[in-house]
Amino acid sequence: MPDTCTHLDGLGPVTPSADGCEDCLRMGGRWVHLRLCMHCGHVGCCDNSPNKHATKHAHRTEHPVIRSYEPGEEWGYCYPDDQFIEELPARPGEAAKRHYDPP
Ligand SMILES: [Zn+2]
Ligand SMILES: [Zn+2]
Ligand SMILES: [Zn+2]
Repeated sequence: MPDTCTHLDGLGPVTPSADGCEDCLRMGGRWVHLRLCMHCGHVGCCDNSPNKHATKHAHRTEHPVIRSYEPGEEWGYCYPDDQFIEELPARPGEAAKRHYDPP
């Protein structure tokens, strides 16, 4: 396993796709926390959520890197490297303004 993830080059900026998990919003699902795909802006729900849409999106699209889409959280994660990135600062427009709850 490499020490440094090579998937961070050339990321973003992206525009978050929805004020909530876009897949849960479509199907009426519930989420716990939100994650932002750093390649296309897909907002999906975390692995503590029943549907784990962020992880499903990453596997389906092979978009490797997400960051937290929760206010005050800066961390990211790379799926293929299984690597936690402590600081992946948001660019303008990428940060969640607040925590979004399911409707
Ligand atoms: Zn990586
Ligand atoms: Zn979801
Ligand atoms: Zn994506």
